[in-house]
This record gives sequence, structure tokens and C-alpha cells, in this order.
Amino acid sequence: MSTHGADETPRDAGYDDWLDGIEAGEGIYLSCPNDHGSLPPRRVCPHCGSPELTEEPLPGTGEIESVTVVHVAAPSHADDVPYATAIADFGPVRLTGMVRGVEPDAVEVGTTVAPTVERTETRDERVLVFRPR
Ligand SMILES: [Zn+2]
Repeated sequence: MSTHGADETPRDAGYDDWLDGIEAGEGIYLSCPNDHGSLPPRRVCPHCGSPELTEEPLPGTGEIESVTVVHVAAPSHADDVPYATAIADFGPVRLTGMVRGVEPDAVEVGTTVAPTVERTETRDERVLVFRPR
């Protein structure tokens, strides 16, 4: 499927494209005729099975719904600990990301955050990050 060189880091095409959009301030989500929100890549709505998915602009901010502070991480995130991961409510969709810009233990449910794309300390991998607004 890829037209890039064989030695290039493999891309998770749909997800990386979606991160590119977030990074550019043009995040999107998928909406079906029944107003269910979901995240790409998808071919059908995960809620009702509709194949009629359209891209809609992702709201610019969300609200933290739950938070977990990670003190012991998998090797891929070993140098990032401690860090907080949160599920944030963006209206039609919920996103999971790493919280930065505030001490992990100080992240509170209800905090308004904006999504951005940053890199992990450990492997320099792109991740979805929430920063308080
Ligand atoms: Zn649906």
C-alpha cells in the first residue's frame, strides 16, 4: 500500500494522517447520518454500522473525563514516567492522550484541554497530548 521506500518507518496510515491533522490544527472526526462520532481510520460507524461517514472538524477543546497517572511504564515509555494519561470528552468523540503542561498528580477531571501532537521522551514517537487551556 505504501509508495515510500522500504526502509522508512512504517506508518499507521489512517492514524498518522489523523495526527497530522491535529498537528496542523485541523483535527477531524467521523460522523454518520445518526450523529455518532468516531475516529479514523474507519469504514463504517462503530455504533450503527453505517458506511456513510463524513469528516467533521474536531472541537478545539475537550474536557478531561478520567485520568490515570502512570508511574511504571512499558519500555516504550520508560523515560516518560511519571505521566498522566487522560480520556477527554470532545462532544461527539472521546480521545485518549498524554497530559502535559501540568504535574501528573495535579491533573483534574473537568479540566479543559486542547489536543496537540508531541513526541515521547523514550522513543521520540508521536503521541496525542492534551494541554490545559
Ligand atoms: Zn452511527
